[in-house]
Amino acid sequence: MSSLPEGISRRPFDGTQRLATRGEPVYGEPTDGEWRLWDAGRSKLGAMIELGMELPLEALGSVLYLGAASGTTVSHVADFAGPTYAVEFAPRPVRDLIEVAESRPNLYPLLKDARKPETYAHIVESDLDLLIQDVATRGQARLACENALFLADDGLLCLAVKARSEDVTAEPEAVFEQVRTELTDDYTIIDSQPLRPFHDDHLAIVARKR
Ligand code: SAM
Repeated sequence: MSSLPEGISRRPFDGTQRLATRGEPVYGEPTDGEWRLWDAGRSKLGAMIELGMELPLEALGSVLYLGAASGTTVSHVADFAGPTYAVEFAPRPVRDLIEVAESRPNLYPLLKDARKPETYAHIVESDLDLLIQDVATRGQARLACENALFLADDGLLCLAVKARSEDVTAEPEAVFEQVRTELTDDYTIIDSQPLRPFHDDHLAIVARKR
């Protein structure tokens, strides 16, 4: 299991040790002093950490997060990372995201379509440490490849793939194999695991830019 980076801790809650970051609460999550618990059942990245995936998050600098929604997960990321660019194409959640960013000066909400990286290339840095993607739409591998241009040479991808978003009729394992194959154009896969029991029908992939 990779060690937890500075800024992520485990706090006691309900007789268990739970992931937590330091920041303003966002989604009604329990707090322990200045720590806010990170609900892995509501966050694919939280689940990846809970499952002990190979996630070198130490000394994390800048991050691009695709599919930020209302900020459940990206708020935790901004609590421990450097500049965090949060792309979401639905206006309603972006309104919530802007509120989440008020207490996080390193969080930059962007009302943009992740299929059009050229529309935010003038804002987002091009040597990022980490690309996190949780868009749950068709073409998830292609999106990750198209956004690889923002990563530094050894930058890392954390991808949550929802099988049913690609093809509701296909076997999830066939979808996941196709995604893994497509990713190899731009990435070397380090680790991949189903996100059970936190999220059914999802595969998490950690990969390094080629
Ligand atoms: N990652 C979020 C979290 O943990 O808090 C949940 C993300 S939700 C599963 C997927 C989000 O991706 C939705 O809010 C959806 O609007 C957004 N999305 C889907 N396709 C997108 C695209 N092409 N560009 C930007 N956002 C997209």
